Amino acid sequence: MKRLIHGFEHFRHEVFPQQRELFKKLASGQSPGAMFITCADSRVMPELMFNAQPGELFVYRNIGNIVPPYAQHVSGVVAAIEYAVRVLKVEHIVICGHSDCGAMKALGKPELVREMPSVAAWLKHADVARYVVEQNTSGLSDDECLHYLTRENVVGQLEHLRTLPVVAAAMASGNLSIHGWVYDIAHAELEAFDAQEGRFVTLKPGMEDLPEATPHMRFSASAA
Ligand SMILES: [Zn+2]
Repeated sequence: MKRLIHGFEHFRHEVFPQQRELFKKLASGQSPGAMFITCADSRVMPELMFNAQPGELFVYRNIGNIVPPYAQHVSGVVAAIEYAVRVLKVEHIVICGHSDCGAMKALGKPELVREMPSVAAWLKHADVARYVVEQNTSGLSDDECLHYLTRENVVGQLEHLRTLPVVAAAMASGNLSIHGWVYDIAHAELEAFDAQEGRFVTLKPGMEDLPEATPHMRFSASAA
């Protein structure tokens, strides 16, 4: 805990004074442009990765960057998405998986979470990835299996995301785009899901067309 207290002292005395005006503005409200849903893994730090300032990113993290589909049982992530879309009016939602993800390893080897019934139950929301990989591949090494599970989980969670009525409505009017990314910790690389092509492509600076996971809008924003 001492490490945290010292860290906060550093923030108060070194960081805060340099951005006093920004924090004054943020004290009474936020208007982030994007919601970023990623894994709780301590190695994934969205604000660091994107050089983001306070107030820029609405971040939600859980084990396995999972979004349960629309259902009677409400989860924290689903409530946060509703708030982000309806109140904060974010224009983008990114679901971001990552390399060496413990949740994805457990998805491939359920015996790893036998003693953790809550984790095992939570990972049921990622079963879609396991089924897709199991039924479409064979003879994979552990690393290859993890590679595919991580990406198929992002695709599956994007599909769950679209079952939420607020998300479907905002996407239909062109007010919201969704994105599926995978972050490689060892190489500092990002891949994005290209729904048109049905594959992940490496994101590069200056890319003309950003790979999109959003279906075409069906209503113009003015008619919505
Ligand atoms: Zn993870």
